[in-house]
Amino acid sequence: MSRYKFSLIRLAFKFILFAFLIAAANGSFRGVLAGDLSSSLLFSTVPLSDPFAVLSLAFAGANLGASAVLGAVIVAAFYAIIAPRAFCAWVCPVGLITELTAKIRRKLKLNESGILNIKRTSRYYILASVLLLSAIFSVPVFESVSFIGVVQRGLIFGGFAWLGVAFLIVVFELFILPNGTCGHICPLGAFYSILSTASIFRIKHHEHFCTYCSECERVCPEKQVLSIIGEKSGFVKSSECISCGLCIDACEENALEFSIKNLRRKNEN
Ligand code: SF4
Ligand code: SF4
Repeated sequence: MSRYKFSLIRLAFKFILFAFLIAAANGSFRGVLAGDLSSSLLFSTVPLSDPFAVLSLAFAGANLGASAVLGAVIVAAFYAIIAPRAFCAWVCPVGLITELTAKIRRKLKLNESGILNIKRTSRYYILASVLLLSAIFSVPVFESVSFIGVVQRGLIFGGFAWLGVAFLIVVFELFILPNGTCGHICPLGAFYSILSTASIFRIKHHEHFCTYCSECERVCPEKQVLSIIGEKSGFVKSSECISCGLCIDACEENALEFSIKNLRRKNEN
């Protein structure tokens, strides 16, 4: 198996997705796709909305149209069923920046601990805080300051502000807190982690193939989810896994794979 299989598939997927969104923003695909990652309309009929943006608007007391709510339910259901945090690894443009920065950090052999020491659970407190603040100030707080929104709008509609945000993310990840953006502070990642608690596609570990080389843990952006390695065969249970497949690419023993949870329970060990 190629050492970069999932990296390349995800890169191609994001490239095609954003090519579509750029074309849609310029009026191509009329009747097929209109809008961006926050809100779009498929085939002039199916609404698709960012479920966290709609939740934030609800906390802010906004009048939500039926179409926005339906669009949020459709997208939330998709991510809840498919794979944990698939948005982070397969859709979010910031995920691409943090993944590339992690590669650079490993190449440069920079300190893995950074100078800021905060827990990964911080993101859940930030998630609760931005929703609470949305209710207090009657504005969707995270959407108003979202670094993800700046980057995705920059990629789709042009401009240079997103380059400044991308630069700050790279500096933050390299020198202040490795995997800090997606793994420690992003409330959207925390939201999708909670949403995908019961999702079906999971990383599965085959302990009998494992040589305990720890290559998978070295590349994993959420190392705490791989506690199963070297312990027993089975599925990665934590929905903090972002379904990136980097661990599968890194494992030369084929001891890891994507598999469907529960359908092959008899073969787990
Ligand atoms: S990379 Fe593969 S062989 Fe190495 S520790 Fe991880 S699962 Fe085991
Ligand atoms: S366990 Fe594998 S798929 Fe999940 S975040 Fe870590 S490297 Fe990515």
